[in-house]
Amino acid sequence: AAAPPLPPQWQPPRHLRVFPGFPLAGWGSARCNALAPGAAGTLSRRSYQVMTASLRAEIQAAALKKQTGVSLKYLLDFGTQPLDRQMLLSARFLHGEIPVRLAHRLMDLNNLPPKLSQEPHVRRVKGWYADSFADFRSFPPIKDNMDVLRFTAMLRAAVRRHNNVVPAIAKGVEEYKRELERTGESSQELESEIQHFLDTFFLSRIAIRFLAGHHISMFEPPRPDHIGLVHTRCSPYMIASDAVSAARAICFREYGGAPQVTVLGNTGLTMAYVPSHLHHMVFELVKNSLRAVQERYSEADSEAPPIQVVVAEGLEDVTIKVSDQGGGISRSGLRRIWTYLYTTARSPLPDVDIDSSNMPAVLAGYGCGLPLSRLYARYFSGDLQIISMEGYGTDAYLHLARLGNDEEPLPGAV
Ligand code: ADP
Ligand code: MG
Repeated sequence: AAAPPLPPQWQPPRHLRVFPGFPLAGWGSARCNALAPGAAGTLSRRSYQVMTASLRAEIQAAALKKQTGVSLKYLLDFGTQPLDRQMLLSARFLHGEIPVRLAHRLMDLNNLPPKLSQEPHVRRVKGWYADSFADFRSFPPIKDNMDVLRFTAMLRAAVRRHNNVVPAIAKGVEEYKRELERTGESSQELESEIQHFLDTFFLSRIAIRFLAGHHISMFEPPRPDHIGLVHTRCSPYMIASDAVSAARAICFREYGGAPQVTVLGNTGLTMAYVPSHLHHMVFELVKNSLRAVQERYSEADSEAPPIQVVVAEGLEDVTIKVSDQGGGISRSGLRRIWTYLYTTARSPLPDVDIDSSNMPAVLAGYGCGLPLSRLYARYFSGDLQIISMEGYGTDAYLHLARLGNDEEPLPGAV
């Protein structure tokens, strides 16, 4: 079936149409390459059992290769015309690129402080990365369409294998921090090293899953106005409204009630974006606001003031503001909200089973909500800011860059 046409401002330049050789337009790559590969360490027990010396050597060799970034224009371009030839090239690219990225992450995991690197949950994650690396490496060269289908099935299984990486890593780091506190080894340097690792690790995960998901989606029934994972007429208003309903449902489940949320702004506004990313970010912000307001007003006589979500349309950015009167965050707390695991909620991690196929959605407590949302925003050149008035409330500003804006001709410049 023919893919829907791109809106006019989206037409990639002609020279990118065929096969662009993956030019980098400041899109993710610099950050993905942020960590240099390091020396080898030990791998997880699970993967040790199955891992031959040659696989370990392959991982080390692959981690020395540079990761190759892809431009969004390239992804949109091949997604507009998902011809067999394009899918073959896409599969070949991912076949070469994903194991390199996995190897980089494996090396990062091995180079963590030994107590963290050897923590059981972290070892499980290393096992998943090693298994996926082995799958890619043992996959023969992709020659024809049948190979593409087989490769795509393997890719799908690998994506599923990594579903619970975030809670597993969060749990591992939490255990490690507890251990450090117990032995008094905790230090500022260690914290910032871990923070840097997690930022790189999770950003890389977002990128790999986006690339893989984009490829996989080409083999699913075409959806109107979609190019792979990108919705070319994504409505921030609609997504925000959906995210609000989902967040309120969880709040209801937790507290038996949920504050009102109003969504304001241009209901007709559409932009190209990845709906799942946008949903994830707004969902996290609204959950935070709901929790703050709910806790503050649970005993109060007056009714809880509604949370406001405002969608604003700019030339460069679309900004979504989530405002609450939940009492805000203290300045000392504000410094820590971007650190993973900083949470003032009781951690739900002790009772979750990382082996179950899907982790339960929780109102709060992983502590990853804000830092991960900011990574999602930054992956597509956006950003997330939190401004708080302690004693009153919090404003979160989620800036979304209009995708593909970089190389757009300016009005009147033609
Ligand atoms: P979690 O929600 O799992 O605790 P987050 O990263 O989403 O993790 O938030 C970290 C912490 O920041 C929260 O535990 C809370 O203390 C604080 N916070 C975030 N958003 C708000 C808000 N809107 N109002 C008050 N505190 C907030
Ligand atoms: Mg949260």
